[in-house]
Amino acid sequence: EFGEDEGDEADLAARPPVVTVMGHVDHGKTKLLDAIRKTNVVAREAGGITQHIGAYQVAAEHDGEDRKITFIDTPGHEAFTAMRARGAKSTDIAVLVVAADDGVKPQTIEALNHAQAADVPVVVAVNKIDKEGADPNKVRAQLTEYGLVAEEYGGSTLFVDISAKNGTGIDQLLEAILLTADAELDLRANPTMDAQGIAIEAHLDKGRGPVATVLVQRGTLRVGDSIVCGEAFGRVRAMLDDNGDAVEEATPSRPVLVMGLTAVPSAGDNFIVVTDDRMARQIAQQRAARKRSADMAKSSRRRTLEELFSDLEKGRVDELKLIIKGDVSGSVEALEDALLKIDVGDEVRLRVLHRAVGAITEYDVNLAVADDNAVIIGFNVRPEPRARDLAEREGVDIRYYSVIYQAIEEIEAALKGMLKPEFEEVQMGTAEVREVFKVPKIGNVAGSLVRSGVIVRNSKARVIRDGVVIADNLTVSSLRRFKDDATEVREGFECGIGVGYNDIRIDDVIETYEMREKPRA
Ligand code: GDP
Repeated sequence: EFGEDEGDEADLAARPPVVTVMGHVDHGKTKLLDAIRKTNVVAREAGGITQHIGAYQVAAEHDGEDRKITFIDTPGHEAFTAMRARGAKSTDIAVLVVAADDGVKPQTIEALNHAQAADVPVVVAVNKIDKEGADPNKVRAQLTEYGLVAEEYGGSTLFVDISAKNGTGIDQLLEAILLTADAELDLRANPTMDAQGIAIEAHLDKGRGPVATVLVQRGTLRVGDSIVCGEAFGRVRAMLDDNGDAVEEATPSRPVLVMGLTAVPSAGDNFIVVTDDRMARQIAQQRAARKRSADMAKSSRRRTLEELFSDLEKGRVDELKLIIKGDVSGSVEALEDALLKIDVGDEVRLRVLHRAVGAITEYDVNLAVADDNAVIIGFNVRPEPRARDLAEREGVDIRYYSVIYQAIEEIEAALKGMLKPEFEEVQMGTAEVREVFKVPKIGNVAGSLVRSGVIVRNSKARVIRDGVVIADNLTVSSLRRFKDDATEVREGFECGIGVGYNDIRIDDVIETYEMREKPRA
Protein backbone atom coordinates (compact mmCIF):
# COMPACT_ATOMS: atom_id res chain seq x y z
CA GLU A 1 0.00 0.00 0.00
CA PHE A 2 2.92 2.36 0.61
CA GLY A 3 5.96 2.02 -1.54
CA GLU A 4 8.66 3.38 -3.70
CA ASP A 5 6.92 2.66 -6.97
CA GLU A 6 6.77 5.88 -8.92
CA GLY A 7 4.75 4.55 -11.82
CA ASP A 8 5.75 5.67 -15.30
CA GLU A 9 9.27 7.02 -15.76
CA ALA A 10 7.85 9.55 -18.23
CA ASP A 11 5.71 11.10 -15.50
CA LEU A 12 8.61 11.83 -13.17
CA ALA A 13 9.23 15.49 -12.40
CA ALA A 14 11.92 17.22 -10.36
CA ARG A 15 10.98 17.85 -6.74
CA PRO A 16 12.60 20.15 -4.17
CA PRO A 17 15.09 18.67 -1.69
CA VAL A 18 13.90 18.20 1.89
CA VAL A 19 16.43 19.42 4.45
CA THR A 20 16.91 18.86 8.19
CA VAL A 21 19.15 21.17 10.22
CA MET A 22 21.30 19.38 12.80
CA GLY A 23 24.14 20.22 15.15
CA HIS A 24 25.29 20.82 18.70
CA VAL A 25 23.04 22.69 21.10
CA ASP A 26 23.37 26.50 20.93
CA HIS A 27 25.29 26.41 17.67
CA GLY A 28 22.44 28.29 15.99
CA LYS A 29 20.08 25.75 14.39
CA THR A 30 16.92 27.61 15.38
CA LYS A 31 18.38 30.97 14.46
CA LEU A 32 19.40 29.60 11.07
CA LEU A 33 15.94 28.20 10.37
CA ASP A 34 14.51 31.63 11.19
CA ALA A 35 17.06 33.43 9.06
CA ILE A 36 16.45 31.23 6.05
CA ARG A 37 12.77 31.75 6.35
CA LYS A 38 13.05 35.51 6.70
CA THR A 39 15.41 36.12 3.79
CA ASN A 40 13.48 33.96 1.39
CA VAL A 41 9.82 34.39 1.98
CA VAL A 42 7.86 32.78 -0.81
CA ALA A 43 5.42 35.46 -2.02
CA ARG A 44 2.90 35.82 0.71
CA GLU A 45 -0.38 37.69 0.63
CA ALA A 46 -0.29 40.99 2.45
CA GLY A 47 -1.10 40.54 6.09
CA GLY A 48 -0.39 36.81 5.96
CA ILE A 49 1.06 35.46 9.16
CA THR A 50 3.81 32.91 9.26
CA GLN A 51 2.51 29.61 10.53
CA HIS A 52 4.84 27.20 12.20
CA ILE A 53 3.49 23.97 10.82
CA GLY A 54 6.66 21.91 11.21
CA ALA A 55 8.15 22.55 7.80
CA TYR A 56 8.38 25.35 5.28
CA GLN A 57 9.40 25.94 1.72
CA VAL A 58 11.65 28.71 0.43
CA ALA A 59 12.49 29.91 -3.05
CA ALA A 60 16.08 29.96 -4.21
CA GLU A 61 17.77 30.77 -7.47
CA HIS A 62 20.27 28.34 -8.88
CA ASP A 63 21.91 28.52 -12.31
CA GLY A 64 19.34 31.13 -13.28
CA GLU A 65 16.51 28.77 -12.43
CA ASP A 66 13.85 29.28 -9.79
CA ARG A 67 14.05 26.40 -7.36
CA LYS A 68 12.53 25.52 -4.04
CA ILE A 69 13.87 23.90 -0.89
CA THR A 70 11.80 22.38 1.90
CA PHE A 71 13.08 22.72 5.45
CA ILE A 72 11.91 20.60 8.33
CA ASP A 73 11.30 23.19 11.02
CA THR A 74 12.28 21.02 13.98
CA PRO A 75 16.02 21.38 14.49
CA GLY A 76 18.15 18.46 15.60
CA HIS A 77 18.61 14.86 14.64
CA GLU A 78 16.24 13.48 17.26
CA ALA A 79 13.02 13.91 15.28
CA PHE A 80 14.82 12.79 12.15
CA THR A 81 16.01 9.57 13.76
CA ALA A 82 12.73 8.93 15.56
CA MET A 83 10.97 9.14 12.19
CA ARG A 84 13.56 6.90 10.61
CA ALA A 85 13.01 4.38 13.38
CA ARG A 86 9.41 4.19 12.16
CA GLY A 87 10.66 3.47 8.68
CA ALA A 88 10.07 6.96 7.34
CA LYS A 89 12.63 8.69 5.20
CA SER A 90 11.95 12.34 5.84
CA THR A 91 15.15 13.99 4.72
CA ASP A 92 17.22 14.25 1.56
CA ILE A 93 20.02 16.46 2.84
CA ALA A 94 21.29 17.38 6.31
CA VAL A 95 22.70 20.81 7.12
CA LEU A 96 25.23 20.37 9.92
CA VAL A 97 25.54 23.60 11.88
CA VAL A 98 28.85 24.18 13.66
CA ALA A 99 29.56 27.40 15.58
CA ALA A 100 32.90 28.75 14.41
CA ASP A 101 33.78 30.05 17.88
CA ASP A 102 33.11 26.72 19.56
CA GLY A 103 34.11 24.15 16.97
CA VAL A 104 33.13 20.50 16.67
CA LYS A 105 31.36 19.18 19.79
CA PRO A 106 30.02 15.76 20.83
CA GLN A 107 26.54 16.44 19.49
CA THR A 108 28.01 17.64 16.21
CA ILE A 109 29.46 14.18 15.78
CA GLU A 110 26.31 12.51 17.01
CA ALA A 111 24.29 14.43 14.42
CA LEU A 112 26.80 13.56 11.73
CA ASN A 113 26.65 9.87 12.68
CA HIS A 114 22.90 9.94 12.40
CA ALA A 115 23.01 11.57 8.97
CA GLN A 116 25.64 9.14 7.76
CA ALA A 117 23.77 6.14 9.13
CA ALA A 118 20.82 7.27 7.03
CA ASP A 119 23.01 7.80 3.94
CA VAL A 120 21.97 11.42 3.82
CA PRO A 121 24.52 13.82 2.27
CA VAL A 122 25.72 16.63 4.51
CA VAL A 123 26.29 20.33 3.85
CA VAL A 124 28.18 22.10 6.63
CA ALA A 125 27.05 25.56 7.77
CA VAL A 126 29.90 27.15 9.72
CA ASN A 127 27.90 29.60 11.83
CA LYS A 128 28.61 32.66 13.98
CA ILE A 129 31.42 33.90 11.77
CA ASP A 130 30.52 37.42 12.99
CA LYS A 131 31.87 36.53 16.42
CA GLU A 132 35.27 37.32 17.71
CA GLY A 133 37.41 34.21 17.91
CA ALA A 134 35.47 32.55 15.09
CA ASP A 135 37.75 30.12 13.28
CA PRO A 136 35.96 28.61 10.27
CA ASN A 137 39.10 26.85 9.04
CA LYS A 138 39.48 25.02 12.30
CA VAL A 139 35.98 23.61 11.84
CA ARG A 140 36.99 22.35 8.39
CA ALA A 141 40.13 20.76 9.80
CA GLN A 142 38.25 19.15 12.69
CA LEU A 143 35.59 17.61 10.48
CA THR A 144 38.18 16.11 8.14
CA GLU A 145 38.79 13.56 10.87
CA TYR A 146 35.21 12.40 10.53
CA GLY A 147 35.29 11.98 6.79
CA LEU A 148 33.87 15.37 5.85
CA VAL A 149 36.52 16.93 3.66
CA ALA A 150 35.77 20.41 2.36
CA GLU A 151 35.76 20.94 -1.36
CA GLU A 152 38.50 23.55 -1.07
CA TYR A 153 40.66 20.87 0.60
CA GLY A 154 40.07 18.43 -2.23
CA GLY A 155 37.04 16.73 -0.73
CA SER A 156 33.43 16.64 -1.80
CA THR A 157 31.60 18.27 1.10
CA LEU A 158 30.40 21.84 0.74
CA PHE A 159 31.16 24.11 3.68
CA VAL A 160 29.52 27.55 3.82
CA ASP A 161 30.48 30.28 6.28
CA ILE A 162 27.41 32.01 7.64
CA SER A 163 26.08 34.27 10.33
CA ALA A 164 22.52 33.32 11.17
CA LYS A 165 22.40 36.45 13.30
CA ASN A 166 23.31 38.88 10.51
CA GLY A 167 21.83 36.86 7.69
CA THR A 168 25.13 36.56 5.82
CA GLY A 169 25.90 33.52 3.73
CA ILE A 170 22.31 32.30 3.65
CA ASP A 171 21.98 32.50 -0.15
CA GLN A 172 25.28 30.65 -0.55
CA LEU A 173 24.03 27.97 1.83
CA LEU A 174 20.85 27.50 -0.21
CA GLU A 175 22.97 27.31 -3.33
CA ALA A 176 25.21 24.68 -1.71
CA ILE A 177 22.14 22.61 -0.81
CA LEU A 178 20.92 22.68 -4.41
CA LEU A 179 24.40 21.89 -5.75
CA THR A 180 24.65 18.90 -3.42
CA ALA A 181 21.16 17.74 -4.36
CA ASP A 182 21.95 17.94 -8.06
CA ALA A 183 25.33 16.25 -7.69
CA GLU A 184 24.39 13.42 -5.36
CA LEU A 185 20.69 12.75 -5.59
CA ASP A 186 18.05 12.05 -8.18
CA LEU A 187 15.16 13.97 -6.70
CA ARG A 188 12.23 13.18 -8.89
CA ALA A 189 8.72 12.08 -8.09
CA ASN A 190 5.57 11.37 -10.00
CA PRO A 191 3.00 14.08 -9.36
CA THR A 192 0.28 12.34 -11.36
CA MET A 193 -0.40 9.50 -8.94
CA ASP A 194 -2.45 9.40 -5.75
CA ALA A 195 -0.49 11.11 -3.02
CA GLN A 196 1.76 9.34 -0.52
CA GLY A 197 4.02 10.80 2.12
CA ILE A 198 4.66 11.07 5.82
CA ALA A 199 3.35 12.99 8.80
CA ILE A 200 6.04 15.15 10.32
CA GLU A 201 4.03 16.68 13.12
CA ALA A 202 0.49 16.33 14.46
CA HIS A 203 -1.60 17.53 17.35
CA LEU A 204 -5.14 18.06 18.53
CA ASP A 205 -6.19 21.62 17.81
CA LYS A 206 -8.96 23.04 20.00
CA GLY A 207 -10.90 24.55 17.14
CA ARG A 208 -9.87 22.42 14.20
CA GLY A 209 -9.68 18.94 15.71
CA PRO A 210 -6.80 16.65 14.77
CA VAL A 211 -4.35 18.41 12.46
CA ALA A 212 -1.28 16.91 10.88
CA THR A 213 1.53 18.45 8.87
CA VAL A 214 2.29 16.05 6.09
CA LEU A 215 5.07 16.03 3.58
CA VAL A 216 3.91 14.85 0.18
CA GLN A 217 6.57 12.48 -1.20
CA ARG A 218 4.92 11.38 -4.41
CA GLY A 219 1.66 12.13 -6.16
CA THR A 220 -0.55 15.13 -5.57
CA LEU A 221 -2.67 15.56 -2.45
CA ARG A 222 -5.99 17.35 -2.95
CA VAL A 223 -8.74 18.70 -0.78
CA GLY A 224 -11.47 16.06 -0.75
CA ASP A 225 -9.06 13.09 -0.90
CA SER A 226 -9.70 10.22 1.50
CA ILE A 227 -6.51 9.42 3.34
CA VAL A 228 -5.10 7.00 5.87
CA CYS A 229 -2.28 8.32 8.02
CA GLY A 230 -0.87 5.76 10.43
CA GLU A 231 -3.96 4.55 12.24
CA ALA A 232 -5.83 7.80 11.62
CA PHE A 233 -8.02 8.35 8.59
CA GLY A 234 -10.45 10.84 7.16
CA ARG A 235 -11.19 13.12 4.26
CA VAL A 236 -8.99 16.16 3.66
CA ARG A 237 -11.34 19.01 4.58
CA ALA A 238 -8.85 21.81 4.09
CA MET A 239 -5.10 22.34 3.76
CA LEU A 240 -2.91 25.25 4.82
CA ASP A 241 0.65 26.02 3.82
CA ASP A 242 3.32 27.56 6.03
CA ASN A 243 2.11 31.04 5.14
CA GLY A 244 -1.30 30.24 6.54
CA ASP A 245 -2.79 30.29 3.05
CA ALA A 246 -5.41 27.78 1.99
CA VAL A 247 -4.09 25.26 -0.51
CA GLU A 248 -6.14 23.17 -2.93
CA GLU A 249 -3.41 20.74 -3.91
CA ALA A 250 0.08 19.83 -2.77
CA THR A 251 2.75 18.32 -5.03
CA PRO A 252 5.88 16.33 -3.99
CA SER A 253 8.09 17.84 -1.25
CA ARG A 254 5.40 20.32 -0.30
CA PRO A 255 4.50 20.39 3.38
CA VAL A 256 0.89 21.16 4.24
CA LEU A 257 -1.24 21.20 7.34
CA VAL A 258 -4.13 18.79 6.81
CA MET A 259 -7.50 19.06 8.53
CA GLY A 260 -10.21 16.43 8.57
CA LEU A 261 -8.54 13.44 10.21
CA THR A 262 -10.45 11.47 12.82
CA ALA A 263 -7.44 10.99 15.10
CA VAL A 264 -3.95 12.36 15.68
CA PRO A 265 -1.25 10.40 13.84
CA SER A 266 2.37 10.15 15.03
CA ALA A 267 5.35 11.86 13.48
CA GLY A 268 6.83 9.44 10.97
CA ASP A 269 3.54 7.72 10.13
CA ASN A 270 3.06 7.41 6.43
CA PHE A 271 -0.09 8.45 4.65
CA ILE A 272 -1.73 7.27 1.48
CA VAL A 273 -4.73 8.37 -0.53
CA VAL A 274 -7.36 5.70 -0.99
CA THR A 275 -10.53 5.47 -3.08
CA ASP A 276 -13.08 6.39 -0.44
CA ASP A 277 -13.78 6.85 3.26
CA ARG A 278 -14.85 3.26 3.76
CA MET A 279 -11.58 1.96 2.40
CA ALA A 280 -9.72 4.50 4.55
CA ARG A 281 -11.46 3.26 7.69
CA GLN A 282 -10.76 -0.36 6.79
CA ILE A 283 -7.07 0.17 6.18
CA ALA A 284 -6.70 2.23 9.36
CA GLN A 285 -8.32 -0.55 11.37
CA GLN A 286 -6.11 -3.16 9.75
CA ARG A 287 -3.05 -1.08 10.55
CA ALA A 288 -4.13 -0.70 14.16
CA ALA A 289 -4.62 -4.44 14.49
CA ARG A 290 -1.32 -5.18 12.83
CA LYS A 291 0.44 -2.73 15.12
CA ARG A 292 -1.08 -4.32 18.21
CA SER A 293 0.13 -7.75 17.23
CA ALA A 294 3.55 -6.41 16.25
CA ASP A 295 3.84 -4.67 19.61
CA MET A 296 2.94 -7.87 21.37
CA ALA A 297 5.43 -9.87 19.38
CA LYS A 298 8.14 -7.32 20.08
CA SER A 299 7.63 -7.12 23.81
CA SER A 300 7.49 -10.88 24.12
CA ARG A 301 10.92 -11.31 22.63
CA ARG A 302 14.10 -9.39 23.05
CA ARG A 303 16.32 -10.09 20.17
CA THR A 304 19.55 -11.63 21.27
CA LEU A 305 22.81 -11.54 19.45
CA GLU A 306 22.32 -15.24 18.68
CA GLU A 307 19.05 -14.47 16.92
CA LEU A 308 20.66 -11.66 15.05
CA PHE A 309 23.28 -14.06 13.87
CA SER A 310 20.74 -16.52 12.63
CA ASP A 311 19.32 -13.66 10.55
CA LEU A 312 22.80 -13.09 9.28
CA GLU A 313 23.28 -16.72 8.43
CA LYS A 314 20.15 -16.67 6.38
CA GLY A 315 21.90 -14.02 4.37
CA ARG A 316 19.52 -11.25 5.36
CA VAL A 317 22.34 -9.09 6.70
CA ASP A 318 26.09 -9.23 6.37
CA GLU A 319 27.09 -6.43 8.64
CA LEU A 320 27.06 -6.12 12.39
CA LYS A 321 26.31 -2.53 13.32
CA LEU A 322 27.23 -1.29 16.75
CA ILE A 323 26.49 1.73 18.85
CA ILE A 324 29.08 2.08 21.58
CA LYS A 325 28.37 4.06 24.73
CA GLY A 326 30.91 4.21 27.53
CA ASP A 327 31.77 5.96 30.75
CA VAL A 328 34.89 7.77 29.58
CA SER A 329 36.19 8.60 26.15
CA GLY A 330 39.31 6.51 26.67
CA SER A 331 37.33 3.32 27.15
CA VAL A 332 34.99 4.05 24.23
CA GLU A 333 37.92 4.60 21.91
CA ALA A 334 39.86 1.60 23.16
CA LEU A 335 36.82 -0.62 22.75
CA GLU A 336 36.09 0.66 19.27
CA ASP A 337 39.69 0.20 18.18
CA ALA A 338 39.83 -3.33 19.52
CA LEU A 339 36.51 -4.30 17.97
CA LEU A 340 37.45 -2.94 14.58
CA LYS A 341 40.61 -5.03 14.69
CA ILE A 342 38.73 -8.31 14.98
CA ASP A 343 39.56 -10.28 11.87
CA VAL A 344 36.83 -12.45 10.43
CA GLY A 345 37.72 -12.21 6.76
CA ASP A 346 35.78 -10.07 4.28
CA GLU A 347 32.47 -11.83 4.48
CA VAL A 348 31.09 -9.91 7.40
CA ARG A 349 31.81 -6.41 8.45
CA LEU A 350 31.58 -4.58 11.67
CA ARG A 351 30.44 -1.00 11.46
CA VAL A 352 30.30 1.46 14.33
CA LEU A 353 27.30 3.70 13.67
CA HIS A 354 27.86 5.90 16.64
CA ARG A 355 30.05 6.12 19.68
CA ALA A 356 29.85 8.53 22.57
CA VAL A 357 30.35 9.01 26.26
CA GLY A 358 27.34 8.88 28.53
CA ALA A 359 24.24 6.88 29.39
CA ILE A 360 22.32 5.09 26.65
CA THR A 361 19.64 7.49 25.46
CA GLU A 362 16.42 7.23 23.49
CA TYR A 363 18.29 8.55 20.48
CA ASP A 364 20.72 5.68 20.64
CA VAL A 365 17.84 3.24 20.76
CA ASN A 366 16.08 4.97 17.88
CA LEU A 367 19.27 4.84 15.87
CA ALA A 368 19.47 1.10 16.55
CA VAL A 369 15.83 0.63 15.56
CA ALA A 370 16.30 2.67 12.40
CA ASP A 371 19.15 0.44 11.44
CA ASP A 372 17.21 -2.67 12.21
CA ASN A 373 20.03 -4.90 13.26
CA ALA A 374 22.22 -2.60 15.27
CA VAL A 375 23.34 -3.67 18.73
CA ILE A 376 24.05 -1.22 21.54
CA ILE A 377 27.09 -1.79 23.72
CA GLY A 378 27.08 -0.21 27.14
CA PHE A 379 30.53 -0.09 28.65
CA ASN A 380 30.11 0.76 32.31
CA VAL A 381 26.96 2.69 31.42
CA ARG A 382 23.26 1.92 31.59
CA PRO A 383 20.22 3.17 29.68
CA GLU A 384 18.09 6.06 30.85
CA PRO A 385 14.66 4.78 31.96
CA ARG A 386 12.88 5.95 28.82
CA ALA A 387 15.59 4.44 26.66
CA ARG A 388 15.26 1.15 28.53
CA ASP A 389 11.50 1.09 27.93
CA LEU A 390 11.91 1.94 24.27
CA ALA A 391 14.55 -0.75 23.82
CA GLU A 392 12.28 -3.25 25.51
CA ARG A 393 9.36 -2.31 23.29
CA GLU A 394 11.37 -2.30 20.10
CA GLY A 395 13.36 -5.41 20.89
CA VAL A 396 16.73 -3.68 20.66
CA ASP A 397 19.62 -5.70 22.01
CA ILE A 398 21.72 -3.88 24.61
CA ARG A 399 24.85 -5.61 25.87
CA TYR A 400 26.61 -4.53 29.03
CA TYR A 401 30.29 -4.94 29.69
CA SER A 402 32.78 -3.70 32.20
CA VAL A 403 35.83 -5.52 30.94
CA ILE A 404 37.07 -4.81 27.43
CA TYR A 405 38.35 -8.28 26.62
CA GLN A 406 34.98 -9.80 27.49
CA ALA A 407 33.27 -7.50 25.04
CA ILE A 408 35.80 -8.41 22.39
CA GLU A 409 35.48 -12.14 22.95
CA GLU A 410 31.74 -12.06 22.74
CA ILE A 411 31.56 -9.87 19.65
CA GLU A 412 34.24 -11.93 17.97
CA ALA A 413 32.33 -15.15 18.63
CA ALA A 414 29.23 -13.45 17.34
CA LEU A 415 30.90 -12.26 14.17
CA LYS A 416 32.24 -15.73 13.50
CA GLY A 417 28.74 -17.08 13.87
CA MET A 418 27.68 -14.58 11.25
CA LEU A 419 29.78 -16.09 8.52
CA LYS A 420 27.45 -17.02 5.75
CA PRO A 421 26.88 -20.74 5.36
CA GLU A 422 28.56 -22.34 2.41
CA PHE A 423 26.40 -24.03 -0.16
CA GLU A 424 27.07 -27.10 -2.20
CA GLU A 425 25.37 -28.37 -5.28
CA VAL A 426 23.34 -31.58 -5.11
CA GLN A 427 22.50 -33.23 -8.43
CA MET A 428 18.86 -34.18 -8.79
CA GLY A 429 18.03 -35.42 -12.26
CA THR A 430 18.65 -35.16 -15.96
CA ALA A 431 16.23 -35.16 -18.86
CA GLU A 432 16.68 -35.32 -22.61
CA VAL A 433 14.71 -32.95 -24.80
CA ARG A 434 12.65 -34.77 -27.44
CA GLU A 435 10.33 -32.02 -28.66
CA VAL A 436 9.82 -28.29 -28.14
CA PHE A 437 6.37 -26.70 -27.72
CA LYS A 438 5.38 -23.09 -27.64
CA VAL A 439 3.05 -22.50 -24.69
CA PRO A 440 1.31 -19.14 -24.34
CA LYS A 441 2.51 -17.17 -21.29
CA ILE A 442 5.07 -19.83 -20.31
CA GLY A 443 7.26 -19.73 -23.41
CA ASN A 444 9.02 -22.74 -24.87
CA VAL A 445 8.46 -26.00 -23.03
CA ALA A 446 10.68 -29.01 -23.55
CA GLY A 447 8.92 -32.33 -24.06
CA SER A 448 11.52 -34.54 -22.37
CA LEU A 449 12.37 -38.00 -21.16
CA VAL A 450 13.79 -38.20 -17.65
CA ARG A 451 17.11 -40.05 -17.99
CA SER A 452 18.23 -40.18 -14.38
CA GLY A 453 17.02 -39.25 -10.92
CA VAL A 454 13.95 -37.04 -10.49
CA ILE A 455 12.99 -33.73 -12.02
CA VAL A 456 11.43 -31.61 -9.28
CA ARG A 457 9.45 -28.44 -9.84
CA ASN A 458 11.17 -25.26 -8.59
CA SER A 459 14.59 -26.85 -8.46
CA LYS A 460 17.53 -25.18 -10.24
CA ALA A 461 18.31 -26.16 -13.79
CA ARG A 462 20.93 -25.79 -16.49
CA VAL A 463 20.87 -26.59 -20.17
CA ILE A 464 23.66 -28.66 -21.72
CA ARG A 465 24.18 -28.87 -25.47
CA ASP A 466 26.85 -31.19 -26.89
CA GLY A 467 28.47 -31.43 -23.49
CA VAL A 468 28.65 -27.67 -22.98
CA VAL A 469 26.62 -25.71 -20.42
CA ILE A 470 24.84 -23.04 -22.44
CA ALA A 471 22.51 -21.69 -19.73
CA ASP A 472 22.61 -22.01 -15.97
CA ASN A 473 20.89 -20.80 -12.85
CA LEU A 474 17.47 -21.43 -14.38
CA THR A 475 14.48 -22.69 -12.44
CA VAL A 476 12.09 -25.49 -13.29
CA SER A 477 9.11 -23.15 -13.29
CA SER A 478 6.64 -25.51 -14.92
CA LEU A 479 6.51 -29.27 -14.90
CA ARG A 480 3.74 -31.33 -16.53
CA ARG A 481 2.77 -34.95 -17.03
CA PHE A 482 0.41 -34.91 -20.05
CA LYS A 483 -2.02 -32.07 -19.24
CA ASP A 484 -1.53 -32.10 -15.48
CA ASP A 485 0.85 -30.14 -13.30
CA ALA A 486 3.32 -32.39 -11.55
CA THR A 487 5.60 -31.70 -8.60
CA GLU A 488 8.11 -34.37 -9.62
CA VAL A 489 8.71 -36.80 -12.46
CA ARG A 490 10.94 -39.86 -12.15
CA GLU A 491 13.45 -41.63 -14.33
CA GLY A 492 11.93 -43.33 -17.36
CA PHE A 493 8.91 -41.04 -17.62
CA GLU A 494 8.11 -38.31 -20.11
CA CYS A 495 7.18 -34.79 -19.11
CA GLY A 496 7.02 -31.17 -20.23
CA ILE A 497 9.67 -28.99 -18.59
CA GLY A 498 9.66 -25.17 -18.63
CA VAL A 499 12.86 -23.50 -17.45
CA GLY A 500 12.28 -20.01 -18.84
CA TYR A 501 14.92 -20.52 -21.54
CA ASN A 502 13.48 -19.96 -25.00
CA ASP A 503 16.34 -21.24 -27.12
CA ILE A 504 15.88 -24.78 -25.86
CA ARG A 505 16.33 -27.39 -28.66
CA ILE A 506 15.82 -31.05 -29.38
CA ASP A 507 18.71 -33.20 -27.99
CA ASP A 508 19.59 -30.63 -25.32
CA VAL A 509 20.00 -32.08 -21.83
CA ILE A 510 18.31 -30.43 -18.85
CA GLU A 511 20.21 -31.05 -15.65
CA THR A 512 18.52 -30.15 -12.38
CA TYR A 513 20.13 -29.52 -9.02
CA GLU A 514 19.63 -27.95 -5.64
CA MET A 515 21.90 -25.79 -3.51
CA ARG A 516 22.13 -27.17 0.00
CA GLU A 517 23.71 -25.65 3.04
CA LYS A 518 27.02 -27.29 3.84
CA PRO A 519 27.33 -28.35 7.43
CA ARG A 520 29.91 -26.18 9.13
CA ALA A 521 32.93 -27.81 10.68
P1 GDP B 1 20.28 25.95 18.73
O1 GDP B 1 20.29 25.42 20.11
O2 GDP B 1 21.30 25.26 17.87
O3 GDP B 1 18.92 25.99 18.08
O4 GDP B 1 20.83 27.45 18.83
P2 GDP B 1 20.02 28.83 18.75
O5 GDP B 1 19.56 29.10 17.37
O6 GDP B 1 19.01 28.86 19.82
O7 GDP B 1 21.20 29.84 19.05
C1 GDP B 1 21.91 29.79 20.27
C2 GDP B 1 22.43 31.18 20.60
O8 GDP B 1 23.40 31.58 19.64
C3 GDP B 1 21.37 32.25 20.60
O9 GDP B 1 21.61 33.12 21.66
C4 GDP B 1 21.54 32.91 19.27
O10 GDP B 1 21.11 34.25 19.27
C5 GDP B 1 23.03 32.81 19.07
N1 GDP B 1 23.39 32.80 17.65
C6 GDP B 1 22.90 32.00 16.70
N2 GDP B 1 23.47 32.26 15.51
C7 GDP B 1 24.36 33.27 15.71
C8 GDP B 1 25.27 33.98 14.87
O11 GDP B 1 25.38 33.76 13.65
N3 GDP B 1 26.05 34.93 15.46
C9 GDP B 1 25.96 35.21 16.77
N4 GDP B 1 26.76 36.14 17.25
N5 GDP B 1 25.11 34.55 17.59
C10 GDP B 1 24.31 33.60 17.09
